[in-house]
Formats: sequence, C-alpha cells, structure tokens
Amino acid sequence: MPRVFALLALLFCTVGAPAADAPKPEDFVTVQKGTLPIILSAPHGGRMKVPDVPERVGKGVTNFQTVLDSNTAELTEKLAAEIEKELKGKPWVVIARFERKIADVNRAPKDAYESDKAKPFYDAYHDALATACKTVKDKFGRGLLLDIHGQAVHLDAICRGTQNFKTVTLLKEREGFSAISGKYSVLGRMERNGYKVMPGGEEPNDTKEVPKFAGGHIVATYGSHTAYGIDAMQIELGSNFRTREKYPTTAKDLADSVRVFYDAYLKDAKK
Ligand SMILES: [Zn+2]
Repeated sequence: MPRVFALLALLFCTVGAPAADAPKPEDFVTVQKGTLPIILSAPHGGRMKVPDVPERVGKGVTNFQTVLDSNTAELTEKLAAEIEKELKGKPWVVIARFERKIADVNRAPKDAYESDKAKPFYDAYHDALATACKTVKDKFGRGLLLDIHGQAVHLDAICRGTQNFKTVTLLKEREGFSAISGKYSVLGRMERNGYKVMPGGEEPNDTKEVPKFAGGHIVATYGSHTAYGIDAMQIELGSNFRTREKYPTTAKDLADSVRVFYDAYLKDAKK
C-alpha cells in the first residue's frame, strides 16, 4: 500500500510539475512605472537563463545576434536612480533580464524568437514598453525614450541611432537639429563632458549616423514618426564606458545630460 501511494504521489508530481514551475515572464523583465516623460529601455543586458525555453539558432534570420550588451541592464538601473535624484521624479524603466539567446526584443517578432515558449517573454517586454509610451503620450503629449545598448566596435565612443532623425521626427520639427545634437541635447551634453559621440561635432549637425548603429526595432516601433509619438533614440555605448568600474560614472553623466535635455525641452510639457 505505501508503495502504491508513493507511486501515485510521484505520478501526480510529474504531471503537476510543468505548470507549477513554468517560468513567469514578469520575473524576467524589470518594469518601473514612472512619473516623468522619460522612458528607459534596455533590451540586451539580460543574464538570466530561462528553464525550458530553447536557445535560438538563427536559421534564415537577418542580423542574428545572441551576444550580451554587457552591463547595460545594471547601467540602466543606475541611470534610472540617478535621474530620480536629479529630477525628483521617476523615469519609466523596462529592462530585459532573460538572455538574448532566447529572444531578441530589438527585432521584429519573426526574427526575435523561434519557440512558442519564448513569445511570452518577448511580449512581456513590449507590453510594458507600449504601456509606458502610451501613458507618457496621454499625460504629457510628448516624451523621450532612450534605448540603451552596448557596442564593441568603437570602444571609446557613443553612437546615436535615430534612423537619421526619423524616430525623433516631432522633436526635430519642434526644436530643430540642436535638440538632437546641440549643447542641450542628451548626446551633445555628453560630448561637452568629454565623451566621443558619433556622429558628433559642431551644431546644428545633421550628419548621418553610423549605419550599423542607426536604430533598430524598438526606436522604429515607438519613435515619434509612429502613432506612439515618443521621440526615441538608440544609445550605443562603447565597451570602455561599460566596464564594471566605469559604468556607474557613465550612468551618472548620462543622467546629468538627461536633466539638461529635460530642462530645455520637456519641463514645460503639459501635465
Ligand atoms: Zn544591443
């Protein structure tokens, strides 16, 4: 009798286990609701393995990448905290904690994941980002989305990605190129603080962006050329700004630049 019981218990556990232990997407995406018209997104810094979700193999996928943008999740968290200190309000934050090996949220769905099990993780990221963009647009009428990435090509430079100003259409119409590359712009301020920015240089500056880093799916989906209407910029930080020793300083300097931009271009947005 005890043996039968044990067998039944084993069967029950085996059948019950997958549902009870299935990884929950919300445990693999950090989301912070904000009070400011500023949204931070970090799609490629995830370090967590997701049980039961197979890794992508990339067959037929354009621009297939599974490599981590190292320390961008940590840097974005620090950036959010520093912005809160500077502006006495919270930015909206969406950070992927799952590995890029299972889903790449900066790709269109067909190139982003291969397993039905990975789809809920992709959706959790984009649902949170879409909610942030809609709420900011409704509340303030405009907003800034910074999509934080890392690149290892120009180690000592930050590359700007707005699809050559397309994803910041409303900002450019309202304020001109200086709001994107001038002294009160986010990256213009970084440049003045000693960071090399590509493209950079004298304002007003309408120089073309580095093609490889000119802006991917996230800025293309939520940018101000779309119905979301949020000015969106991909920020590709060179490796030397993302080391364990350096990333807190980079985050602090970036927060200072966001404050300067906010004071010049966002402060008077409707409440
Ligand atoms: Zn990236």
